[in-house]
Amino acid sequence: MRLRNVKNKEKILESSKYLVKNAEQNIGRWDKVFGNNNPIYVEIGMGKGKFIIENALSNPNINFIGIEKYDSVLAKSLPKIPNDLDNLLIIRMDALNIERIFSKEIDRLYLNFSDPWPKNRHHLRRLSSRVFLEKYDSIFKDVCEIYQRTDNQDLYIYSLESYSSYGYTLSDISFDLHKEKEGLITTEYEDKFVGKGMPIYAVVARKCVQKSK
Ligand code: SAM
Repeated sequence: MRLRNVKNKEKILESSKYLVKNAEQNIGRWDKVFGNNNPIYVEIGMGKGKFIIENALSNPNINFIGIEKYDSVLAKSLPKIPNDLDNLLIIRMDALNIERIFSKEIDRLYLNFSDPWPKNRHHLRRLSSRVFLEKYDSIFKDVCEIYQRTDNQDLYIYSLESYSSYGYTLSDISFDLHKEKEGLITTEYEDKFVGKGMPIYAVVARKCVQKSK
């Protein structure tokens, strides 16, 4: 994502009631933070937030948490959140630290148009690499469930292989999601690519959580 500096970004972040400060303090108690036992869906790399905001508005019985690592991106997304949404929270962090934030409490993870890190030597930075899959193991409740969409065929194939070799089962595989499904809630990047006539690749990956002895 091209980053333009946003004036007053510190002020925007500081004043948003949706941005969770000291998120690590809530590990294992996000149900208390939301005040209910509804499922929790997380999007890593939420960007400007269209996907997660529209999902939160359409699904009041699901709690959504958006993760984004850049202040300038957050300063664009936070002001877009309507005033009275009680099923959406945002965390500013690098997902590399995700296992410090959640413990056995997440139901679904969305990876939408994640950075592809095209160079081979950077493959472990991809959000679907084994490095991240190992971290995700401890955040999910009963089933690890990852919904991924991307415009990048190389990242897509890499991800399918990475999920499979880590014990995930794949379903809803699509090489042209928008030809197969209508009425989808989309992301900013997705709209751009679909507008150019590019195919969107999608997959759902699931794996049972290993019970510790
Ligand atoms: N998902 C949005 C969309 O589809 O419009 C944004 C896609 S953009 C290519 C990727 C986003 O993920 C950027 O906003 C970037 O800052 C964020 N991101 C990348 N790696 C991340 C990480 N390790 N932790 C948190 N956010 C990350």
